[in-house]
Amino acid sequence: MSGRDDGRTIEIRREGVAVSAGIAIGRAFLVGRDLIKEPRYHLEPDDVDAEVARLHRAIQASDKQLEKIKGKLAASEGESDFHIITAHQLMLHDEHLVDATIGYIRDEQINAEWALRKAVDDIRGVFDAIEDDYFRERRSDIDFVGERVLRNLLGKDTGPLRPPPDAIVVAYDLSPADTAQLHKHAVAGLITDAGGKTSHTAIIARAHEIPAVVGLEDVTEVVEDDDLLIVDGGGGVVIVNPQPTTVAEYREQQRRQAAHEAVILSNKDLPARTRDGTEVRLQANIDGPDEAATAIEHGAVGIGLTRTEYLFMIEQDEIPDEETHYRTACEVLERMGGRPVTIRTFDLGADKLAGFLEEAQLGEANPALGLRSLRLCLADLGRSLFRAQLRGLLRASVKGDLRIMFPMVSGVGELRAAKAVVEEVKAELRAEGQPFDEQIKVGIMIEMPSAALIADLLAREADFFSIGTNDLIQYTMAVDRVNELVSYLYEPLHPALLRLIRDVARAAKAGGIPVSICGEVAADPLVAPVLVGLGIHELSMSAVSIPEVKGVLRATTLWELERLVERVLQLPTAGEIRDAVTEYLDELGVQIGGPR
Ligand code: PEP
Ligand code: MG
Repeated sequence: MSGRDDGRTIEIRREGVAVSAGIAIGRAFLVGRDLIKEPRYHLEPDDVDAEVARLHRAIQASDKQLEKIKGKLAASEGESDFHIITAHQLMLHDEHLVDATIGYIRDEQINAEWALRKAVDDIRGVFDAIEDDYFRERRSDIDFVGERVLRNLLGKDTGPLRPPPDAIVVAYDLSPADTAQLHKHAVAGLITDAGGKTSHTAIIARAHEIPAVVGLEDVTEVVEDDDLLIVDGGGGVVIVNPQPTTVAEYREQQRRQAAHEAVILSNKDLPARTRDGTEVRLQANIDGPDEAATAIEHGAVGIGLTRTEYLFMIEQDEIPDEETHYRTACEVLERMGGRPVTIRTFDLGADKLAGFLEEAQLGEANPALGLRSLRLCLADLGRSLFRAQLRGLLRASVKGDLRIMFPMVSGVGELRAAKAVVEEVKAELRAEGQPFDEQIKVGIMIEMPSAALIADLLAREADFFSIGTNDLIQYTMAVDRVNELVSYLYEPLHPALLRLIRDVARAAKAGGIPVSICGEVAADPLVAPVLVGLGIHELSMSAVSIPEVKGVLRATTLWELERLVERVLQLPTAGEIRDAVTEYLDELGVQIGGPR
């Protein structure tokens, strides 16, 4: 399917999840369709078992993907397609495919991709010989299944993306590592079939100001390479092969938004202070030292969250050592010129996958609830990497105002276990005569309901809190943060969330420790005033959002925000809360999201 019909071009409009504002107009660069040429090589006898295991993993991954697609079809009533995919899943495990492929791997000692191709060709041959249209058509099913397994076998070898500058990248989905590379190629926009508002792809797109729409479901089927596209990242709209009048309309909108942004950016050096004098500390979230300059340019007073997972993800096969952590931390501190910097220990797992984790995670039915983040750091698999990171961070602590933060703490026991590792590492450094900040602050993220509910107990043993709403919403609402089918339930203004945040803020205040929010909601100009009204006076966000949030807060008073919060906490639904906040901001004359 494409936008062409008898040589004429038809304008197609698709709506998805708006994740990164801005308008991009450019040519499509499709990712993931040209990877099907399989490598062919012979194996050493000792490698045969590992190759068979690799095949099984690819089949398992394919099965999971098909299950996900089925979920989508079920929701959109695609009954017949649903059954076809069930048939594809059965084929995936069919002995004619699996046993034959394994047979080739073992008997001919050839790699899994080559063996799979041979097995698929054999099955096609059988179908070809049958004089029946129905069976002939089954050839495409086996091709489809074979191709999916092949893609999963090849997954790690696809190499980095190299889109031309000003292209709009179109993909089923992108790994965070791929997305993290995209800004270096100056892509104009990004659209995907899968994904939700706080998927890491979305977060990275926002951090680099790449207009993006995700959750488009079938856009990779509709778009062809080089098609002209308009991406309206704020409105969640993608237009394929737009008519000249549509292009002119969006160019005009682009100009109006640029003018609006220039006005907003002029806020950047003004204090983030409400009209009645309450200071709100606005900090930036970064993925590494090269984002520090953007943070300062947009007026960040510090770094509230440095995600360090990317050190593990960009070079998939290289695990960062102590020196890498030390150098990275020193660089961030230096570039931030004395401003405070919070560095989070690695938060790997679920959708933030590193090479060394792949094996462990493939067997997990629920990776978001599995061996990830701090629990991975404390397990045998991650412990030495955790220690290496802590050594690097502690050594860097003498170079500036560095704080360490643990992600995904579930309770006091886990916090104590992690702090015990810090103490061990400190003792080691002392014994070696390596200097470090003895008073270094060690804080935690509150991103699970269990932690939020015992914030009073955690406040006795943590030096600060940072509420990670991206995960707190996911785990409170039981909504996968990257699943577009349930993204409508992913609601930061849900009364349950607001109560949790209020209670964490109160516990922090009573315990005498600072509390901030570093989830994406902090960057939402409609939600940020509510957070301040709930008692959170420190927010950390993508740097580019700081000026707009600051502009909104400068228009309010703390007194009004506290009254607003008192009122909205009585409301039963997120929709009503959203309406009440919108009404309040409208009365103030605050315009959110720029001109449309
Ligand atoms: C969060 O969960 O809100 C958060 C900031 O962490 P991440 O998005 O990296 O999971
Ligand atoms: Mg998180």
